[in-house]
Amino acid sequence: MPDREKLNIVPFVSVDSMMRLVLHFGVERVLADLAGYIEEDFRRWESFEKTSRLASHSPDGVIELMPTCDGRQYSFKYVNGYPKNTRNGLQTVAAFGVLSDVDCGYPLMLSEMTILTALRTGATSALAGRYLAPAGAKTMAIIGNGAQSEFQALGFKALTGIDTVRLYDIDPVATEKCLRNLAGMGLTLVACRSAEEAVEGAEIITTVTADKNCNTILTDNLVGQGVHINAVGGDCPGKTELHRDILLKSDIFVEYPEQTRIEGEIQQLPKDYPVKELWRVIAGLEPGRSNRRQITLFDSVGFAIEDFSALRFVYDRLQETRMFEELDLLADRDEPRDLFGMLLRKEAAMRQG
Ligand code: NAD
Repeated sequence: MPDREKLNIVPFVSVDSMMRLVLHFGVERVLADLAGYIEEDFRRWESFEKTSRLASHSPDGVIELMPTCDGRQYSFKYVNGYPKNTRNGLQTVAAFGVLSDVDCGYPLMLSEMTILTALRTGATSALAGRYLAPAGAKTMAIIGNGAQSEFQALGFKALTGIDTVRLYDIDPVATEKCLRNLAGMGLTLVACRSAEEAVEGAEIITTVTADKNCNTILTDNLVGQGVHINAVGGDCPGKTELHRDILLKSDIFVEYPEQTRIEGEIQQLPKDYPVKELWRVIAGLEPGRSNRRQITLFDSVGFAIEDFSALRFVYDRLQETRMFEELDLLADRDEPRDLFGMLLRKEAAMRQG
């Protein structure tokens, strides 16, 4: 926790500070440590206030608010999802968030969360993979090579020990970008010309595409026995990536079922279709992968507790790194009940120059 000599100053982690912080520790270490925070919070799942995110849909995308609280700290994330944005030079996913102190309700930290979301999504996927992917899996296919993809690759490398990534995107420019960014990072990289080619020999399949519509990135015939599917891109009503038949032959693991039934791949299934909650596997209450032939599917949509963990992770590193700016966010310079007087004193001070 940064020592705040002035209470009205709130640490602000800008995009620049976030990048410096991540580079200071190294991306893979951040992904692994962040996964540790998520794992810790998933183990105490029941101590959190939980609600499906509040989504405001428009023809081209969605803006969402994601709150949660553990009784001591409260957090929320503001995040968009606009698949058409990259055509205009904008991010598909852009976010910021706040961590607050429940004792007084004051914000403890404001942070950019565009980079942090990519990190927490990669960390959550890889954490799920550690419990669900076949033991000793070395090869992962990544279909969709946009903003999230490198974080997925490095997350699985750091947490599950994959050494080969097979890449496919309908846009070869995205695959070239991914190849360039991941070069020299200890992974064997294979560029593929189709989803079919990408999944050849892959024990883990990550789908992380962006489209406003229901899509079929993977068909049933492409998914063999024993594979783990990490489905990240279908995270909104009317936006899915997998053929329904894949769901029917998989054991499905989700974050918060109430939210995933609205937003995830399982929106294609009846409302009471049985799914398992990832936190119960992490807490040791239910088995993850139980045999080599089983197809496991992590139907990821992103849940508020992962963002809480990510903000907590960053906040815990501010004291050591000082990688934040000071934000004048709270109007409590003097007598708290004399807010109007504060305005008048400012006016007088401004008049005096
Ligand atoms: P992005 O726009 O940067 O990249 C998406 C890529 O998918 C693009 O390169 C595009 O060419 C490719 N693509 C689209 N259709 C394809 C298809 N049919 N086959 C192969 N490739 C295809 O987006 P991003 O920031 O990387 O996000 C990817 C997806 O992940 C989005 O849908 C986003 O909403 C979702 N997401 C989910 C979570 C989560 O927690 N589950 C978190 C962040 C983002």
